[in-house]
Amino acid sequence: MKVSLNKRILNRNDECAQKNKAFFENHGVLCLNVISSPGSGKTTLLSRTILALKNKLKIGVIEGDIKTDTDAAKIRATGAAAVQIETQGACHLSAVQVHDALKQIEAAEKDVIFIENVGNLVCPSAFDLGEKKRVVLLSVPEGDDKPIKYPGTFAGADVILINKMDLIAYIPFDLDRVLTDIRKINPHARVFQVSAATGEGMQQWYDWLCDTIA
Ligand code: MG
Ligand code: ZN
Repeated sequence: MKVSLNKRILNRNDECAQKNKAFFENHGVLCLNVISSPGSGKTTLLSRTILALKNKLKIGVIEGDIKTDTDAAKIRATGAAAVQIETQGACHLSAVQVHDALKQIEAAEKDVIFIENVGNLVCPSAFDLGEKKRVVLLSVPEGDDKPIKYPGTFAGADVILINKMDLIAYIPFDLDRVLTDIRKINPHARVFQVSAATGEGMQQWYDWLCDTIA
C-alpha cells in the first residue's frame, strides 16, 4: 500500500492537533484559528478585539508569519501576550508549531487563544491546529470572487467576517453575490459584516465570541 508523502504529513499533523485539542479542553481555553489572505486585516481585527474585551477576558495570540515578528509586536502593544512563529518559508502553521508555542504563551491560563495563521487562502485550511472554531476573513478590496475561488477555506469556517466594509462605497464589490456564494458553500457559518479599522459591526463579533466561551 502506498501512502503519499502529503498524506503522512497530514496524519502526523492530525495526531498533534488532537493533543492540542485535549489541552484546550482540559484547561477550558477557547482556541480560534484565524485564516485569510495577506492584508485582509487579521492583526487589526485581533488588536481591536483585545482592546474591546481585555477587561473581560484573558487573551493570548499565536502569530504565524513567514518572516518578521511585527504582528506579535502589534498585539503586545494592546497589552495581550503574543508569541511569534516564523515559518521560514512555510505557507501555513502546523499543529506541532502551535504545540511548541503553548507553554511560552502560558496558554493554560487564558480564556481565549487566537492563532493568526500565515496569510494564505489555500493550505492553512488543510491543517487542523486543534482549534475549536475557525474564523475566515474576506476583505472588500480582495474582490467578491474569493469564496468561489477558494471554496475549501470558506467551507471549513464557523465564522466568516467580511472586513473593510468601510471601503465598500469605493470598490466594486457585489455584497449580495458574496453572501449568496457563501451560503451555497457553507450554509452553517455565521457571517458578520465588519470594519476592524473603524469598529463598525464589531459588536456582533464580540457577542458571538463571548457566547461561544460561555
Ligand atoms: Mg497579520
Ligand atoms: Zn502551506
